[in-house]
Amino acid sequence: MTRTVYVNGQYLPETEATVSIFDRGFLMADGVYEVTSVLDGKLIDFAGHLRRLQRSLDELEMKNPLSEDEWLAVHRELVARNGVEEGMVYLQVTRGNPGDRDFAWAADVAPTVVLFTQTKPGLADNPQARTGIRVISVPDIRWGRRDIKTVQLLYPSMGKMMAKKAGVDDAWFTEDGFVTEGTSNNVYIIRGNRIVTRPLSSEILHGITRSAVLRFAAEAQYEVEERAFTVEEAQGADEAFLTSASAFVMPVVELDGAAIGTGKPGPVATRLREIYLDEMRKAAV
Ligand code: PLP
Repeated sequence: MTRTVYVNGQYLPETEATVSIFDRGFLMADGVYEVTSVLDGKLIDFAGHLRRLQRSLDELEMKNPLSEDEWLAVHRELVARNGVEEGMVYLQVTRGNPGDRDFAWAADVAPTVVLFTQTKPGLADNPQARTGIRVISVPDIRWGRRDIKTVQLLYPSMGKMMAKKAGVDDAWFTEDGFVTEGTSNNVYIIRGNRIVTRPLSSEILHGITRSAVLRFAAEAQYEVEERAFTVEEAQGADEAFLTSASAFVMPVVELDGAAIGTGKPGPVATRLREIYLDEMRKAAV
């Protein structure tokens, strides 16, 4: 099926959608993005994603091209036109096309707005959630503003490829001896009743799923400790997991070849995944 995508106010078949070669997103990775999951044809934690979009735009001194209602309308229209029951909506805003290449930017250039859907049947009933995933650690050599969700994703892509070459599912970044986050997710370890995760700073992306999961964890009487942890501590933990908008809560059962806990998804990660999916489906828009 030819997807219908959205480019600068128009709904087009994906084969007819174009962006200028001078677009600063293309030349400079000068743009931000969001990914919102769709379950039962509805948007998961949409308000959270719009809040973070606004923050990313503010940090880069870019204007938000659409109102909240307009963003919602475009998301819903794309979900409807493409018949998405389970999947994602990808949204990208770049600093637009100034008509030439220049490091300095002008404030009066119209941003480029692109959205498209990805259909992923079985997103929620992912079999990996029943087996858990395996990860390796790799050095975090990304830039210092990882809290801004920019489209500068080369090193996370390289991290994924390093994982693939090592025969595992993903990579966890480490810096100064501590784990920062995964290539495209926030990471957690569990000891007894306590969930440990790195505090928010410019060193990690402020995950929308992270925020919801920590709220649900506290409501379910788990202790939450926000501090950095090492690879060795993670390897000795009872359980580990990661969160992202499309993986939800995903158990991690091996790190650098060492089994974590029993080497199988543990009760806490499994419970948190259930709670997250139940609560977010109820609140979907
Ligand atoms: N950390 C990084 C580097 C990411 O790229 C992502 C998502 O793409 C996350 C964390 C998780 O964020 P969210 O839960 O908002 O999807």
